[in-house]
Amino acid sequence: MGLYGLLDLAVWQLILITLAMTHVTIVSVTIYLHRHSAHNSVELHPALAHFFRFWIWFTTSTNTKEWTAIHRKHHATTETEDDPHSPVVRGIRKVLLEGAELYNEAATPETLERFGKNTPEDWIERNVYTPYKYLGIAMLAVLNLMLFGVHGIWIWAVQMIWIPFFAAGIVNGLGHFWGYRNFECADNARNIVPFGFLIGGEELHNNHHSFPHSPKLSRRWYELDIGWFWIRVFQCLGLARPKGIKPIGLRIPGKQEVDQETVQAITNNRMHVMRAYRKEVLEPAFREQKERVAREFRPLYRRARKLISREETLVTAHERQSLEQVLQQNELIRQLHTKAQELQQLWQRRGMKQQEKVQALIEWCREAEASGIRHLEEFAAHLRSYALRPA
Ligand SMILES: [Zn+2]
Ligand SMILES: [Zn+2]
Repeated sequence: MGLYGLLDLAVWQLILITLAMTHVTIVSVTIYLHRHSAHNSVELHPALAHFFRFWIWFTTSTNTKEWTAIHRKHHATTETEDDPHSPVVRGIRKVLLEGAELYNEAATPETLERFGKNTPEDWIERNVYTPYKYLGIAMLAVLNLMLFGVHGIWIWAVQMIWIPFFAAGIVNGLGHFWGYRNFECADNARNIVPFGFLIGGEELHNNHHSFPHSPKLSRRWYELDIGWFWIRVFQCLGLARPKGIKPIGLRIPGKQEVDQETVQAITNNRMHVMRAYRKEVLEPAFREQKERVAREFRPLYRRARKLISREETLVTAHERQSLEQVLQQNELIRQLHTKAQELQQLWQRRGMKQQEKVQALIEWCREAEASGIRHLEEFAAHLRSYALRPA
């Protein structure tokens, strides 16, 4: 065995091998830890599940129960003091640079007990993976040195920083700080870039927080979720079964009747419904109104257009003033804003009976159709057309 190990490879070959191995690690994290263990949105063949669990132990020293519990807690407490890694609460610098430390801090016995249910507790977990947490990465270092010689050192270093940097830092940090939002979920989650390749699809973090039980993280035609691609490949091989897709409603053009099924379908699709309301009602109304007001008010309207459909907790006091100013000035915008809030009551108000919801929706549509506002009338027809997909 020479200085360059048993394989004696060229540098470009080593780079390719390193990228391939980090991709396997990322795929293991996104499919096994995240979609399977934390959210139970994909079933895996036991052999594949165990391969992933082994690989994560071997290349990252991550413990399945700890990761799962901390991640579930993150969803249950997003952007609050209890959130293990919110950049909104803790500052982006800390989450980006100290992602791994935050995981260690958060892994308390109470958190593991409360959020870590249904994670592996078999013989190998109890006797190898949990007590010998760092044995895997130590073995990996030895294997790297044997196969790649001195190059094994930097390959190991890349393997060690890949998950803390990309998954713990970039996704948990930037994914709640910077990027675009397809849906107004009730926290600051964002899609960092539309192409989820490098971090296995986890880049699409706004989509994920909007539909946390969906095994598929892409939502728009131009978005790519490589993790979903692999789930489909494993499904074809009989090794995976995606689940957790609620009876998402469908739209039947021309359907008029509003009943419990319509309410249910709208509630299931509330993220899409509110997105459609923004695109089909609010934005055209703002475009028209902006043309009618004096030139000096146009920048204010431009600001308010972005703010009006934003998740309420994400609007600052200063921004609220701009929005209020437009709402006071403009009767039509005020009316559309009120209608949006009334619609959200359907799924936000607790204790409302099904029949009351049906009545509220009928009334909502009736008022919209009598409003004389074309976009609103059309949107009432849009709402009426919702139905549940047959099971
Ligand atoms: Zn998140
Ligand atoms: Zn999640």
